[in-house]
Amino acid sequence: MKILWLDINSSYSHSSVALPAIHAQVSEIQDWEWCVVRGTINDNPGILAAKVAEHKPDIIASTFWLFTHQMQIEVLSRVVQLLDGVKIVCGGPEFLGDNEDFLRRNPFVKAIIRGEGEIALPKFLDSIEEPELWAKIEGLCWISHEDGEYHDTGVARVSDFASLKYPEESSFFNWEKPFVQLETTRGCFNTCAFCVSGGEKPVRYQTLEQVRSRLENIYSHGIKDVRVLDRTFNYDCSRACEMLDIFAEYEGKMRFHLEIHPSLMSDVLKIKIASLPKGLLHLEAGIQSLDAEVLAESGRKGSLASSLDGLQFLCSLENVETHADLIIGLPSYSLDMLCSDIAKLIEMGVDELQVESLKLLPGTRMRLNAKEKGLKFSPLPPYEILQTPVMSAEEIHTGMKISRMLDLYYNTSAWQKVIREMICCNDSFIMEFTEHLDRLMVLGSPISMDRRGMILYDYCKSKHPDKVKDISIAWIEAGSSLKKSPAGDITKIKNLEAYLADNHLQMSVRYGTPRSSHRYYVMESSGERFLFGYDSEEHQPEPVFSASLKPNRK
Ligand code: SF4
Repeated sequence: MKILWLDINSSYSHSSVALPAIHAQVSEIQDWEWCVVRGTINDNPGILAAKVAEHKPDIIASTFWLFTHQMQIEVLSRVVQLLDGVKIVCGGPEFLGDNEDFLRRNPFVKAIIRGEGEIALPKFLDSIEEPELWAKIEGLCWISHEDGEYHDTGVARVSDFASLKYPEESSFFNWEKPFVQLETTRGCFNTCAFCVSGGEKPVRYQTLEQVRSRLENIYSHGIKDVRVLDRTFNYDCSRACEMLDIFAEYEGKMRFHLEIHPSLMSDVLKIKIASLPKGLLHLEAGIQSLDAEVLAESGRKGSLASSLDGLQFLCSLENVETHADLIIGLPSYSLDMLCSDIAKLIEMGVDELQVESLKLLPGTRMRLNAKEKGLKFSPLPPYEILQTPVMSAEEIHTGMKISRMLDLYYNTSAWQKVIREMICCNDSFIMEFTEHLDRLMVLGSPISMDRRGMILYDYCKSKHPDKVKDISIAWIEAGSSLKKSPAGDITKIKNLEAYLADNHLQMSVRYGTPRSSHRYYVMESSGERFLFGYDSEEHQPEPVFSASLKPNRK
């Protein structure tokens, strides 16, 4: 039996672990022949279908994700025209809800696996020619060929998660990507109504010895970045501390991305995180909203006060990067509340702030109760929120424009500091600057770093002249051209000592060490002068030294 895996990802940097996770369970016990056709949502579906057909598989399996769903249907509906009698089985997060409608609309799909596929899919493949056995397979949905009835056996769960073979053991594990994904627990303790993991109970664990041996293997393949998929890394704080000790053994060799619940941090865990080497961790702190009522309506457990306390602690650390998120369109969450939460998180100093629209995902309580809560959403993937009782369609759209503004400016290191100051000092900056970018029609397309700087500089020159100096400094420090207007009034000086003496100035060093070999420039703005030194040998565009210049009082 030849099984082809159709592996569609949203981009080339991503690689789903679904195929290796399932293949690893059966490769040694079944003599099925496996092959894969990989693609992205930007590929041509006809070409992908032709590649699939070339393999002449008996069975095609495919995992559907939010952003790949449409492409998979495009490919599979072409494949069935080319391959008579091929059997198609689908799975993945897109099928956690009711699957009858999908199966009736796409009759070429023989069955769907709902839930965790490592045990259920091999069982189905084993009995694919014996439909009378399918009712015994947990997590299977299909339309009976005989009576046209829809059958559904619930959700597949792997009870002994630690006994699964690791995806890295499969020959299909993709070691070519810039990062690998590591799942050391499965399920989530929390009950967030918008999340597919809100119903995944209980939480199941791999042992620390298993984690250690997987990391050794991952490191031996030259991987530098590990994304830990555990839904809440710190649900069990003492395990989290032990895991961090293991991660610390890879200081300078690998970097770990974790999802952390800021309200669940014990003092011991805080001390542990604070003691870790700089650059080892990138933390994603689930926040979603800073309003207790909104969180309660969304079914999220955990006190808001302790969440804020935990987040403030993480933001105060210099050794970790903290990323936070907010969700547009949660029940009772207005545009004003969203803007105020953005300002609060930025004031706290989060390193990155992601603002995304609510997705009403199949199988979530939020989707089941959408009508009752007055939530209108797209019936097609990605099921994004369109309107709520407290946010009009236009306000949702405005929220998405704000999200784009933050990506262009706050989530870009060159502009973060200056944008933070502007947001914190001016309540209306978020809306006004977003509207300005919208009028320039730059929110919907890629925009270069220089263009971002020019736009911000021109905007501040007319609206916030007191910030022009900071923008010029940020522009120069980002390594942008000294010939363009945001560099301000800047001149090259030939002899630093003579310049300081002639102008009766003294230096107050901002960073770096002054060297005679540097090329020096002085930028003057609002009566203040700043000195920038560039390394003449390295030719790097960013200055390596800076000082503010003050009148010499001696
Ligand atoms: S949003 Fe996070 S904490 Fe909430 S259920 Fe999902 S994984 Fe768990």
